Amino acid sequence: MKILVIEDEKKVASFIKKGLEEEYYTVDTAHNGKDGYELALEGEYDLIILDLMLPFKDGISITKDLRANKIVTPILLLTAKDKIQDKVDGLDAGADDYLTKPFAFEELIARARALLRRNENTKSLLIKVGELSLDTQLHSLNIGTQKVDLTPKEYSILEYLLRNKNRVISRTKLTQHVYEYNFDTDTNVIDVYINKLRGKIEQHTKAEVIHTVRGIGYVINEN
Ligand code: CA
Repeated sequence: MKILVIEDEKKVASFIKKGLEEEYYTVDTAHNGKDGYELALEGEYDLIILDLMLPFKDGISITKDLRANKIVTPILLLTAKDKIQDKVDGLDAGADDYLTKPFAFEELIARARALLRRNENTKSLLIKVGELSLDTQLHSLNIGTQKVDLTPKEYSILEYLLRNKNRVISRTKLTQHVYEYNFDTDTNVIDVYINKLRGKIEQHTKAEVIHTVRGIGYVINEN
């Protein structure tokens, strides 16, 4: 899952990013409202964590404009203390929840999880394909009755392929999903992760799970 953090205080932004990455999320950050808005418009995010006071474009106006553009990504607003009107304006503009600064990281992660869960209600928390069973809450993979240990990047790639089962996902798309925006990475890195994933999966099943589509990318088929 990919989260966008729009926060002009760089220390706060990197604190949030680091914490979320430890929870297996992929995180993009933007340090002003204009860049953040543009990323939110074009990117495929599962959640946006949005500071209210930002240079060039404030959080309320970002929220309003995203909703006007039919971007329905859940938005968690970060607001200053005792500005009740800001919270009301934010929620009225289309934000889903808010958190008052300063906050404990545990609370941020709990609210983020709640919003992601709400968004996921139509999706299943447990994705099953063949012998594989991926728990998207616990971030764990089981093959049959055996638990398979995955690194955050391996998990992220597998989750994305499973969520898009029966669809061929290009290596570029996979790279964009598991790396930060502008991360100057070679898509060959994805092949390395896929090989590691296959190695781990093959220890528990004889079935070929991740198929290579030559020249394009990868697919997991359900059958
Ligand atoms: Ca700010």
